[in-house]
Amino acid sequence: MGRHGPGKLAIQGGTPIRQKLLPYGRQLVDDDDIAAVVDVLRSDWLTTGPKIPEFEQAFAALTGSLEAVAVSSGTAALHAAMYAIDIKPRDEVIVPAITFAATANSVVFQGGRPVFVDVHPDTLLIDPEQVIKHISTKTKAIIAVDYTGQPCDYDTLRELADRYNIKLIADACHSLGGNYKGRPVGQLADISTFSFHPVKHITTGEGGMISTNDAELARRIRVFRNHGITSDHRQREQQGSWFYEMVDLGYNYRITDIQCALGLSQLRKLAAWVKRRQEIAQQYNSAFAEIPAVQPLGVRAEVSHAYHLYVIRLDVTKLQATRGQIFAALRAEGIGVNVHYIPVHLHPFYRKQLGTKPGMCPVAEAAYEQIISLPIFPQMTDADVEDVIEAVHKVVRAFTV
Ligand SMILES: *Cc1c(COP(=O)(O)O)cnc(C)c1O
Repeated sequence: MGRHGPGKLAIQGGTPIRQKLLPYGRQLVDDDDIAAVVDVLRSDWLTTGPKIPEFEQAFAALTGSLEAVAVSSGTAALHAAMYAIDIKPRDEVIVPAITFAATANSVVFQGGRPVFVDVHPDTLLIDPEQVIKHISTKTKAIIAVDYTGQPCDYDTLRELADRYNIKLIADACHSLGGNYKGRPVGQLADISTFSFHPVKHITTGEGGMISTNDAELARRIRVFRNHGITSDHRQREQQGSWFYEMVDLGYNYRITDIQCALGLSQLRKLAAWVKRRQEIAQQYNSAFAEIPAVQPLGVRAEVSHAYHLYVIRLDVTKLQATRGQIFAALRAEGIGVNVHYIPVHLHPFYRKQLGTKPGMCPVAEAAYEQIISLPIFPQMTDADVEDVIEAVHKVVRAFTV
């Protein structure tokens, strides 16, 4: 019996643990952030101004990379990465089955073909053994996704990329602030991509970043984010010239100075926020060690996990309920659980476009039936964390055989 009294489930008419839904993630915007944005609103530059290189340089310094390029979203960052490494029709790019759809979509934007590979059963990260099996003469790149915030096995992936002379891209949208063998996320692949959507580690509303140590790739990405034009409006003004050239087909993937001011202010808090996420994860880990039907995903000793998500796996053989029923019961208790992700190859678009189907990535498909993401974000209080733990106990106890 928890501190909220006897455990009649909210879904069966009992009292919910929380009256108001605790979301799985949310942003933290404070007075400093707001003041930084207001300053830009009063300044000369709302876009293509000085806050963009300032944010980029701070981000490059933080990730220990030579270059960072800010764009309008994480999806734009992935698209720009696929453009920069010259993905073209009929090229293949290896992506994990468990990720957000945008990872694979970025390959399709360039006319390429995403090749879905299965994940490791313990971590649900891309499995290098499966990568080898899917490399063909058409393979141009691997996109490793640091799912939940745990960096992938980059030494092994690097070795594979070098052996087959292909590029290694990190979709690091979950892992900003994490590291692999002491090396920060952002410098672990040829190109790394980030998102600043409000549920991610830091936010600019919408926004994204690319980091790389390759100056030529960074140059290509800067052109791509600005319609394929070689100099921006500000550079032209400094040069006192009207002249510009569109050298390739690009997009308007620019981010504004307003957003970069917010991003810069948020970036200063990243380290403390990642630390808080790690503390919450430790509290969950110790609480769930006592519940055999609830297993956290495996974490390798060589990483510092940035915990964008905290995902549990339900051992449904120990429960009289499906994942769907546990999910609904936790939602009824006021816990904003979520599921990350539906395996991408099972979406109707990919079934239609590429003929993908169930059975192609059995580990990912089985895991998908068992996973639930619990709330984790820096301003969660210890009482919030306790509520989640209590709700999981309450619901799992009610459904245990
Ligand atoms: C959030 C996310 C994206 C897309 O980022 P947006 O900024 O929403 O476009 C891509 N990949 C992963 C793994 C993500 O979590």
